[in-house]
Amino acid sequence: MAGIMFQDITTLLLNPKAFKDTIDLFVERYKGKNISVVAGIEARGFIFGPPIALAIGAKFVPLRKPRKLPGEVISEKYILEYGRDCLEMHVGAVKSGERALVVDDLIATGGTLCAAMNLLERAGAEVVECACVIELPDLKGRERLNGKPLYVLVESH
Ligand code: AMP
Repeated sequence: MAGIMFQDITTLLLNPKAFKDTIDLFVERYKGKNISVVAGIEARGFIFGPPIALAIGAKFVPLRKPRKLPGEVISEKYILEYGRDCLEMHVGAVKSGERALVVDDLIATGGTLCAAMNLLERAGAEVVECACVIELPDLKGRERLNGKPLYVLVESH
């Protein structure tokens, strides 16, 4: 899209040491924190979320775009910079009281992470933190997270 600087994480994935170091930084932070759910946002949260989930002994819950999940879902609509979108989660994937981590590759305006947190909280989970590889701090997405902590590895201006 014109005027948008796309942040491409696929080059990171081509370097096994860099990819492993990235996952290890998250694992170090979240192991032993009694987190039983890692919720990854489609599509690039599906790259970083599962290895973190396996390493900390949590289940992985995919938060998907509409009409992708086969079972009964709850949905959360949200506003993007240009238009609208929606995330869905399977009913029953998360139990009330579970401690959850939300994972995506990047936070821009924060709308996507906000919708993800709403889904988990509607299911009764406690969102411990959101974790992203990259933050675009100029877009002030952090301010949309209602005070929920956000952990990022790099900022891009
Ligand atoms: P937002 O809801 O505005 O925080 O947007 C975050 C979501 O959109 C994430 O799932 C990102 O993968 C994607 N995204 C937004 N802006 C960019 C960008 N400049 N480069 C790569 N992905 C982006």
